Amino acid sequence: MQGDVKEIVSLIKCRDYEYDLVKKGIENSFINLGGIDKFIKKGDKVLLKLNLLMKKKPEDATTTHPIFTKALAEILIDYGAEVIIGDSPGGPFNIASLKSIYRACGIEKIANEVGAKLNYNTNSMDIKNEDGLILKKITAIEVLKEVDKVISVSKLKTHGMMMFTGAVKNMFGIVAGLEKAEYHVRMPEIKDFSNALVDICLTARPILSFMDGIVGMEGDGPSAGIPREIGAIIASTSPYHLDVVATKIIGLIPNKVPTIQRSVERGLCKGNLDDIEIRGNFIEDLIVKDFLVPEIRSLNLLENRVPKFLADILNELLQPKPIFRHDKCVGCTDCAMNCPPKVIEMVNKKPEVDLDDCIRCFCCHELCPVKAIDIHRPILMKLLAKL
Ligand code: SF4
Ligand code: SF4
Repeated sequence: MQGDVKEIVSLIKCRDYEYDLVKKGIENSFINLGGIDKFIKKGDKVLLKLNLLMKKKPEDATTTHPIFTKALAEILIDYGAEVIIGDSPGGPFNIASLKSIYRACGIEKIANEVGAKLNYNTNSMDIKNEDGLILKKITAIEVLKEVDKVISVSKLKTHGMMMFTGAVKNMFGIVAGLEKAEYHVRMPEIKDFSNALVDICLTARPILSFMDGIVGMEGDGPSAGIPREIGAIIASTSPYHLDVVATKIIGLIPNKVPTIQRSVERGLCKGNLDDIEIRGNFIEDLIVKDFLVPEIRSLNLLENRVPKFLADILNELLQPKPIFRHDKCVGCTDCAMNCPPKVIEMVNKKPEVDLDDCIRCFCCHELCPVKAIDIHRPILMKLLAKL
């Protein structure tokens, strides 16, 4: 961004998933951003990159809601675009797993209703990324090659490792299948991982980012939290500025969120509303005052306050850790199969973890289908997070 130019973020109040309301809200978002014709040409092939983390019902608020997706797809198709819906969810990236996720999340049904295609291309390709700060090459889903444009359609949720999962983190889903676990192993530190997320988002270059914030998730997101009504449809050409507005709505200080910290360091946004023009509703009318957000371990808390050796010791003590609730566990093995450094062993059909080698990515927590994995956060960490 140059000089005093402000990035536009459209903010539309939408109280529930009543189809006509959502469609009107998305149409108004396009108007606020300058009109659909500014972004889409007739005949364009457009990938709607949803958040389809895992098999969850729409009302669980883990995945992009099918009504939101249907309304956006219908608007694009009516305008003359061809729409492909896709994501590389958590776990293996194969046709069987995509089919069951599309079905469970209500996406298969709405795609049939509006005539959108579902992506079943499970090949991957390497994208050179020489300008990347951390990732010089990204192993991405091949469908990106088939489309002219990408639109991100994220869900407003909290996240155990990254505090918040929004428009920037949504693009992590262009990384193919289990390669995502590989990235966690290579970048166990939050600072490196959040820089990698920004690298991926810059490479994916979504022409537009929408966020389904009608019902979001608070608490132990991105899958074990609680659905929470927020009533917001947020959209922008800049995922970085969109995330700033979304985090403000849920009462977070944007600059505490690792992906926003990195975006600010890299000059992509200011991390506050100074470089944003909000069009539509007033942000004050949408702020949720008591939204539950998780504390995360943040090196920034200690950096420059104490000597490095002490910061290292304290960081070790401040580490949150996964706690496996054997009483709730159904022995599905998803956590063990998807643990990036493979430190979970199934013993008598229950998971046992070697915490010494656990990188605290919380993929296990994210993908457990029955919420049998809690994140334990030391009290000292909770206190420091308030500083
Ligand atoms: S993912 Fe959850 S239910 Fe499945 S084995 Fe692990 S803890 Fe048990
Ligand atoms: S045990 Fe869980 S938090 Fe630890 S490395 Fe494995 S998936 Fe990540």
